[in-house]
Amino acid sequence: MDIITINDLSVYAFHGILPEENKLGQNFFIAAQLVLSTREAGIKDDLSATVNYADVCHFINDYTKSHTVKLIETAAEQLAEQILLKFPLIKKIILSIRKPGAPIGLPLKEVAVTISRSWHEVFIAFGSNIGDRAAYIDHAVKALKLFPQIRLETISDLYESTPYGNVQQADFLNGVLGLQTLLSPYELLDTLHKIEQAAGRKRTLHWGPRTLDLDILLYDNIIMDDENLTIPHKDMLNRDFVMIPLNQIAPYKIHPVSNKAICELCNTFPQDDLHIIKE
Ligand code: ADP
Ligand code: MG
Repeated sequence: MDIITINDLSVYAFHGILPEENKLGQNFFIAAQLVLSTREAGIKDDLSATVNYADVCHFINDYTKSHTVKLIETAAEQLAEQILLKFPLIKKIILSIRKPGAPIGLPLKEVAVTISRSWHEVFIAFGSNIGDRAAYIDHAVKALKLFPQIRLETISDLYESTPYGNVQQADFLNGVLGLQTLLSPYELLDTLHKIEQAAGRKRTLHWGPRTLDLDILLYDNIIMDDENLTIPHKDMLNRDFVMIPLNQIAPYKIHPVSNKAICELCNTFPQDDLHIIKE
């Protein structure tokens, strides 16, 4: 990836805790490193293949002037997100906001906050085995599309599978989707839980029947194991109904714990165990 750097754009804005700051305003200096590929634009000498830094500067100026918040942390958070949403070629931004006039009653040169934000690649497994299963899955896909911080990229076929675990229940429809998101792992988990709840999901039996189940399989190359969230998903490597659809959309993705490609990890599953449902 390449970097376009914007150095200390001076913006007169109204951020601050004190009412005088919100009324009188002061100068802020904003710097940004925009991470993207400039290769095509560089080869073709074509502005339309890159991000126009003048547009980004005007956007920073307009947005920062017209949205007043108390903290420069918040100003940076909101601005970084808006830039990533507005300019799709930018994969990552390192943004800093400097405040030379911070009124702290001491001779301070400046205070600054620097944050790094980016799109993250995520794979999610979905499943349903109550009622109109395909409709619940369709609902989930539509619900995910409503979030600006989520960009759906790929979706596997729907596969029918017999239930996992010891609970007697109807067959499942399963699949996997790939997306890009600005949400953190926990923010994403929270969003998935809300979509499950909207589909009438009740958490009763572990591995029991459900209208909709949405699990995070992979999130970039993150490895984490908290009480409420394990990534990569703990059981994914044992589940043909997860690995076969994942292999369909991301065969060369590396599973960061085993360090093996999905297609390699999928070799052990008999391919005719699941059948594809053509909707
Ligand atoms: P399961 O998906 O195993 O059948 P649930 O959907 O009821 O079970 O999820 C139970 C809990 O598992 C969730 O509340 C969540 O906190 C936790 N969990 C841990 N890791 C993950 C993950 N990668 N994706 C989704 N949920 C997870
Ligand atoms: Mg789940």
